[in-house]
Amino acid sequence: PTPGETLLAVEGLEKRFGGLVAVGGVSFDVRAGEILGLIGPNGAGKSTTFNLVTGAQRPTAGRVRFRGADVTGAPARRMAALGLARTFQHVRLRPSMTLLENVMLGAHLRGRAGLVAGALGLDRAEETALRAEAMRALARVGLDATPHALAGSLALGQQRVLEIARALAADPVLVVLDEPAAGLRRLEKQALAGLLRELRAEGMTILLVEHDMEFVMGLVDRIVVLDFGVRLAEGTPAEIRADARVQEAYLGG
Ligand code: ADP
Ligand code: MG
Repeated sequence: PTPGETLLAVEGLEKRFGGLVAVGGVSFDVRAGEILGLIGPNGAGKSTTFNLVTGAQRPTAGRVRFRGADVTGAPARRMAALGLARTFQHVRLRPSMTLLENVMLGAHLRGRAGLVAGALGLDRAEETALRAEAMRALARVGLDATPHALAGSLALGQQRVLEIARALAADPVLVVLDEPAAGLRRLEKQALAGLLRELRAEGMTILLVEHDMEFVMGLVDRIVVLDFGVRLAEGTPAEIRADARVQEAYLGG
């Protein structure tokens, strides 16, 4: 994609659960080469928006366009095939498998939806290609020194990084992260922020859904603030930091 071009366009997105409006008509764009932060207090609708954009849930109204295609209500595997990779708010690694196996499984499941899941059932050439792809993804995040260590042996911060490697292995154009900083210690957050900056410098586009405002402030290019399912504010980190309504929403939430 050309830097600055709109990759993802969300228009009037809405999700109701019975009478509850979790997301009530949200619009924003994600442009190629940027990190967009989608923030808000607990219950603001961040995870629901994430699910609507990644194909995990269908909106009750509104539109999602990705790379020019109308993907409203498209399932997660179609989004993945179009180049959207996601991580999970709660780490979904397989602790008793190695780092390499975890990444291979991710690349396999996301990128090749037509094949049966699992590394079994691959022919030798496919497995070799997948392994090389997974090693490249581990190298990009700095976890290639110990590819055969067990995922369960990693500290939480490194598990989050491994999740990102798994997303990168599918060779996405947009990575969508749900609260990657949650539960991390200060140094782990700094390392994670450093990695995301590096990925941006390589041209990756990132939609960062995150509760932790300080983590987002020092990292992203633009911020969209959700509160009670609607867009409360949009702007640069400096603009958002100075916005009294945003401070109020966070203090109240
Ligand atoms: P956030 O991620 O910003 O904390 P969520 O998107 O998880 O917010 O939730 C937004 C609102 O929607 C909350 O009031 C939450 O309780 C509600 N909600 C989320 N998912 C469901 C669901 N599957 N069924 C009913 N209510 C839901
Ligand atoms: Mg959430």
